[in-house]
Amino acid sequence: MTHVPHHYLSVVVPVHNEAEGITAFHDSLVGIIQHVGAYEILYCNDGSSDTTMQSLNAIAQANEHVRVLTLTRNFGKEIAISAGIEHARGDAILMLDADGQHPVELIPEFIKSWKAGYKVVTGLRTANQKEGLVKRYGSRLFYSIFRRSTSFDLVAGATDFRLIDQEVRKEFLRLSERSRIVRGLIDWLGYEQHYIPFVANPRLLGKSPYSYRKLSKLAVDSVVSLSSVPLYLTAFMGVIVLPLSVLLGLFMTIEMLIGDPLQLHITGGAFVLVLVLFLVGCVLMSQGIIGLYLAHIHSETQNRPLYVIDNAASVRLNET
Ligand code: UDP
Ligand code: MG
Repeated sequence: MTHVPHHYLSVVVPVHNEAEGITAFHDSLVGIIQHVGAYEILYCNDGSSDTTMQSLNAIAQANEHVRVLTLTRNFGKEIAISAGIEHARGDAILMLDADGQHPVELIPEFIKSWKAGYKVVTGLRTANQKEGLVKRYGSRLFYSIFRRSTSFDLVAGATDFRLIDQEVRKEFLRLSERSRIVRGLIDWLGYEQHYIPFVANPRLLGKSPYSYRKLSKLAVDSVVSLSSVPLYLTAFMGVIVLPLSVLLGLFMTIEMLIGDPLQLHITGGAFVLVLVLFLVGCVLMSQGIIGLYLAHIHSETQNRPLYVIDNAASVRLNET
């Protein structure tokens, strides 16, 4: 590899079907970082099915600091970012979304914090006017469950709008799990972080491909991959339910023996039905939770590569 100047910035941008807005985004990004110093922009084309690739080719043609990493299919944003981090060559690696939601005007601030010595600088989202109630409260609920069920503190509002030092990148690359949430993994590495608050812009163009279903899957995945608490909870549930049914049985027997002093008139059928429903519910739930972990272990043990690169459709990816 050729000599890379010091204070060289890599910008990693995951891109999935952003044809409508990518050129405007690129112009705004370059407008900011060309004043910051030496840079490269690494677009990670995550299996776009529209004309994103053509736009990226045109962008790369016009600007020699642009590299394009193309994945063979849609692997998901988390994996696209991971691929970008792996191929980034800078002393600092900044990741941001291609839809204009992460304000590029803040990039100089990120770099200032990095030069001041922080190895991880994280954008903290403070508000998003255009976001629906469900998404907003959903994410709040997720953070509180996450904090309670794992041993470390995922700061609410911490986003993927981040800068990491080359040293953090090296440690990051040692993490091999497949179902991943990049910001969680970077938090797990434990470096001291500096937070920069920002207000997310509305998307430039196009719509978020993240449906509620996908978002819930991401939330479940990240709890399962970072915490075993749900498993303990099911065991705990057993510990509660068992004595409870014993007590209920005793109560019933006593009621029967001394002739319904509380005048409850519990019929045996109703009683059994409720009890059975309760127990079946508990069993199903614990099975479901065990199933989640099993699926997780299953996908991790297959040990497939994280992603596959389409070399022919990539630009300046491996050149030195
Ligand atoms: N993205 C991606 N792969 C996907 C989905 C999204 O690379 O499967 C990219 C997308 O192009 C954008 C970023 O990830 O640059 C964030 O996506 P989006 O704005 O849809 O997510 P949100 O803002 O809701 O987090
Ligand atoms: Mg977005």
